[in-house]
Amino acid sequence: MHCFNTFVNKKEGFSMEKNRNLIIKNGNVIDPDVSEPYVEKKDIAIQNGKFVSIDEIDPSAAKIIHAGGHYVSPGFIDLHVHVFNQHAKVSIDADRVGISQGVTTIVDAGSSGYDVFDSFRKNVIETHKTEVLAFLNVSRKGLTESLSELADPSDLMTVEEAKEIFSKEKSLVGLKARMSRSVVKGQDVKPLLHARQLADQLNVPIMVHIGNPPPYLPDIFPLLRKGDIVTHAFHGKEHGILKKDHTLIPEAVDALNRGVLFDIGHGSDSFNFNTMKYFKEKYSYSFTSSTDIYDKNIQKPVGSLMTTMSKLLELGFSLPFVIESVTSRSRKALHLTEQGSFQNGTRADVTIFDVHERPTLLIDSNGNKKICHKMIDPIMTIREGEVVQKNEKG
Ligand SMILES: [Zn+2]
Repeated sequence: MHCFNTFVNKKEGFSMEKNRNLIIKNGNVIDPDVSEPYVEKKDIAIQNGKFVSIDEIDPSAAKIIHAGGHYVSPGFIDLHVHVFNQHAKVSIDADRVGISQGVTTIVDAGSSGYDVFDSFRKNVIETHKTEVLAFLNVSRKGLTESLSELADPSDLMTVEEAKEIFSKEKSLVGLKARMSRSVVKGQDVKPLLHARQLADQLNVPIMVHIGNPPPYLPDIFPLLRKGDIVTHAFHGKEHGILKKDHTLIPEAVDALNRGVLFDIGHGSDSFNFNTMKYFKEKYSYSFTSSTDIYDKNIQKPVGSLMTTMSKLLELGFSLPFVIESVTSRSRKALHLTEQGSFQNGTRADVTIFDVHERPTLLIDSNGNKKICHKMIDPIMTIREGEVVQKNEKG
């Protein structure tokens, strides 16, 4: 029996092939924008790094990738990671959790703030093969050594600073506000009220982290608007989204009904099998899947985005649902146009993967164990029509 992800940081098998004209032949293609048939054996054509229809491409000028027997999806998006090694102690190398694990776009969730974003751009965004986007911490400092970046109101980014940085940094997709007692100290929801002002001025989503109160969810959720994202939504701590009878607190129902999005953000501390199981039993709201991965949780309990997705399969979610949670739903949540889709003319990021029958003991963030019978394993990662990663068969 295998434990956790066996593909982590395997350098052997890594290769670079520069040919941006590709035909991916005979794969089991999963197109999250098409519901019927969900899985279809067909060819995917890429010209100059963009998807094109198969009759537009000259096969003699294209490299052929034989994908028979494998699944082919638009590149996976992980919208909550920490990859700012140069600044935040909770971080990991972007490509290790990106292309090495079949993830073509990652979103750093608040490791960086206004004061340190130059370093984030130079050291992370510009130096990795994985596409790196970011939620900017509403604290000017980003994640600090103490991890209490919202305890001092004088550290909050001003409206002027926010407008300046969002107008020039194209990798920014929204704001991050961590609403845990340990982060805000005595400030309760005040930093979120400030984030609300910034977000309304900028017209971007807020990703709100939830954890141990205060602030409490009945005070947090009413401040969120359509398109805002609640990460760590399915944690197993007290005062979470579920009442004792395993139904959602009314503020969570109201938030979901007005278009607030729930996100997994697995992390060391924030994903519980039972919370997700009870949510699934009673509700059909969609959500996004993400890892909150960094060096201290990659071995366990997180593993990779595909490990998190494998847990969802075991909990009874269908493969198409799980694929949407890392492609089309993430694209919409982040207001992206080029990612998470096979649409002609968009950027050709592709994840080729297998689903292996391989019973594997996995744990959630509270140490609960589950034998997961089907494991999703990366086979090949393509960025803008370039093969950037090949993995051995799992
Ligand atoms: Zn995080």
